[in-house]
Amino acid sequence: ETPVETHEFQAEVQQVLKLVIHSLYSNKEIFLRELVSNASDACDKLRFEALQDASLAGGGEPAIELRVDGEARTLSVIDNGIGMSHDELAANLGTIARSGTREFLERLEAGQKADAQLIGQFGVGFYSGFIVADRISVTSRRAGSEEVWTWESAGDGRFTLQQAPADTPRGTHITLHLREGEDEFLQDWKLRSLVNTYSDHIGFPIRMAKRVEGDDKDAGGELETINQAAALWTRSKADIGDDEYQAFYKHVSHDFNDALAWTHNRVEGNQNFTSLLYLPKQAPFDFQYNREERKGLKLYIKRVFIMDAAEQMLPAYLRFVRGVVDSDDLPLNVSREILQNNRQVERIRGALVKRSLDLLEKLAREEAEKYTGFWNEYGSVLKEGVAEDASNRERVMKLLRFPSTRSDTADQLVSLDEYIARMAAGQESIYYLTADGFNAARNNPQLEALKARGIEVLLMHERIDEWVAGYLSEYEGKRLRNVAKGELDLDTLGGGEEDKAKREESAKAAEGVVARLKGILGENVREVRVSERLTESPSCLVLEEYDMALHMQRLLKAAGQ
Ligand code: ADP
Ligand code: MG
Repeated sequence: ETPVETHEFQAEVQQVLKLVIHSLYSNKEIFLRELVSNASDACDKLRFEALQDASLAGGGEPAIELRVDGEARTLSVIDNGIGMSHDELAANLGTIARSGTREFLERLEAGQKADAQLIGQFGVGFYSGFIVADRISVTSRRAGSEEVWTWESAGDGRFTLQQAPADTPRGTHITLHLREGEDEFLQDWKLRSLVNTYSDHIGFPIRMAKRVEGDDKDAGGELETINQAAALWTRSKADIGDDEYQAFYKHVSHDFNDALAWTHNRVEGNQNFTSLLYLPKQAPFDFQYNREERKGLKLYIKRVFIMDAAEQMLPAYLRFVRGVVDSDDLPLNVSREILQNNRQVERIRGALVKRSLDLLEKLAREEAEKYTGFWNEYGSVLKEGVAEDASNRERVMKLLRFPSTRSDTADQLVSLDEYIARMAAGQESIYYLTADGFNAARNNPQLEALKARGIEVLLMHERIDEWVAGYLSEYEGKRLRNVAKGELDLDTLGGGEEDKAKREESAKAAEGVVARLKGILGENVREVRVSERLTESPSCLVLEEYDMALHMQRLLKAAGQ
């Protein structure tokens, strides 16, 4: 007997376990999808490491097996993938490394709303095995290592690690000791149907013991493959159902929710590659934490998983996109450095941006409600594209949405195209105002004269908008103008001659007041003039065309600049 090490779970793991078991019981069968998904990832990683080190390639083609022991009431998920060392077992199955986890869990617990949706956002993963098992053991040998270790836990706050027999084959063998009443997961037909529903798209063979026709016994240890075992994106679009696309999405994204939309394309010519890109419905809880380390787009080369290459293959403003790209032409030994400045990669990247924008445009055009849902989750990220991607600026601008002076609430949104379609007669520019908050924008006195003339003004009230606005100079041949800056040219905006005469008259009448104010304000202002902006308020501050917005000045001041 080798000595037994006892370890404590990180506190967060214990919390996640409790939440998963609690809130996912009605979806308990997803545990199989999660374990098979991990086994598939492990096979992907083995193939990749074997590219560098041919000695790892032995031990058979990567595959996954489901094995049932009716007497012991156990279900095993076995793979011959990369495996885990002692330290990897302790870290991967004993801690949660995602930043923001603690805050997220606290929010969940405080809200008492630990429903499937929320916990699913977290990515349920390995721990979902405890929904149906009261004890799980994981025996694993890391590829290239002589040592074999067994991790075991009853999900009660601690796990043990113990050395296992060295003749164990490479990979990972997970055994679930099923809870009372979970015997359905011992049934052959049940497992086959779950694989069919959730894991058919897995690109490695999933095998089970062959059954003897008309009998309950298996055919003497012989195995058969029960999934299609072809990477989903390599199959023809016409043969793939929506549910299969959704199941694959959950595998690549580690998201529990369905995808919002996707686009699947094969490009042939100078360069051959396939891409399958998804838009998620909901931003994961740690989305804002992961600005630096971007994830979600898997690069395959000739069906071999190479690495997560979101940073190299997609611009930052599309960092919500998930999926795979599979190139036939890049060299298998490609490194991150090579990806950074490679003309082929540059071209694939351009194509992926185009596909993503096509997908967003189609959604906005054909399913406006879904698009609004997307916008609410990721609009502020997409906006960055106006600054980041000059060559696609017009396309990104087409996708922007803002509330306007015609909105009662911040979520009544208008696109630039809609704005233009309902512009007032004689109006030549698109007017907007930036502010730090929807109400601050709506009640801004600068809007009065435009309102009085029936002119709509876009209310850009998010923090990022001031920066974005700096890049919004023109759209569809119309200038975009900040109503808080420079002259407004109200002459062209209706009111006519009579109105003009009246304004000149009142300007004359105010000459005395203006002169006195100039005397009092002196050096503090550049100019005092009779306002054409206001109809109700007595006065307001106006910036020169290229001055920084007032709330930005305040922000910088507060930050000590
Ligand atoms: P995720 O798959 O989202 O990373 P999981 O909870 O499903 O989260 O798994 C946690 C980690 O445990 C994985 O990232 C992987 O490193 C490791 N792991 C799980 N199952 C296996 C396996 N069958 N073979 C190798 N590593 C595994
Ligand atoms: Mg997983």
